[in-house]
Amino acid sequence: MSGRRSARSSAGSAASTATRLPGMPVPAVPLCHDVWVMATRYLEPVLAWYSAHARDLPWRRPGVSPWSVLVSEIMLQQTPVSRVIPAHRAWLDRWPAPAALAAEPPGEAIRQWGRLGYPRRALRLHRCAGIVTTRHAGEIPASRDALLDLPGIGTYTAAAVAVFAFGQRHAVLDTNVRRVLARLTAGRQFPAPQPSAAETRFAESLLPASPAVAARWSVAVMELGALTCTAARPRCTECPVAAHCAWLAAGRPAAAARRPGQRYDGTDRQCRGRLLAVLRGSPAPVDAERLGAVWPDAAQRARALDGLVADGLVDPLPDGRFALPG
Ligand code: SF4
Repeated sequence: MSGRRSARSSAGSAASTATRLPGMPVPAVPLCHDVWVMATRYLEPVLAWYSAHARDLPWRRPGVSPWSVLVSEIMLQQTPVSRVIPAHRAWLDRWPAPAALAAEPPGEAIRQWGRLGYPRRALRLHRCAGIVTTRHAGEIPASRDALLDLPGIGTYTAAAVAVFAFGQRHAVLDTNVRRVLARLTAGRQFPAPQPSAAETRFAESLLPASPAVAARWSVAVMELGALTCTAARPRCTECPVAAHCAWLAAGRPAAAARRPGQRYDGTDRQCRGRLLAVLRGSPAPVDAERLGAVWPDAAQRARALDGLVADGLVDPLPDGRFALPG
């Protein structure tokens, strides 16, 4: 594969630092002895594993539209696959193209979003559809820079859409990919909280030269992280690259304790969810009394409602009632 040469040259300076002495800190970026060797060791086993184990997800099927890929990526940002599948299907059935969504008021996007959580994503998707319709003739742009200009599209999502919808060659560093690479190549249980520029360069250096193979490598590593190299219980005995995993070879050393997950019960977030559910379920504006019935704590309810209004998710009406934005 012609990409091996460039991967090798980009790893030149790292090659001499392969040995880590006891007591030396674990590096933020893998001290790879030879990126070319790593690519050849990992690529074929991971691709073969993916061919045998990949889930049949709607946004991965041949011929899906870039819009379908974009919607899936936004939905998957903070919601598990099992909940995204039906929501994605319903969204695409209702709005098969960005222009169809752009033609409706933003409140309809919030209503359709349902209980996926973090509903600002629905608003951003609506704004995104509007810009795509007016600025890009209704077609999702293929360039990573143009994607980055769209609301709610960050570095990861822009790369994911460019790769999975348009077959370009970019590193796609989601949580699963970062965890697999951290374990496999750096011997760390978990990656740093945020990807650094060096980590991105390293992931790019592992990409095969062919954009099509690079895209398959990215989705295959992602799937390996989702199904086998999971955060809590990695199934190393079933892993296609266990023989070359630095973390496994080191005895799976535990990282420092991670922050416990945020609680949900009783939070402003739960309160916002309840208030929004009332508005989503009502074809007409609702009054304060009806909102009070789902969250009795008046101070917290007022705070949550203020937040929803500030985020553009709820419109306060002159008569004191509330509605989804029109
Ligand atoms: S051997 Fe275990 S820790 Fe290493 S990549 Fe495979 S599943 Fe992850």
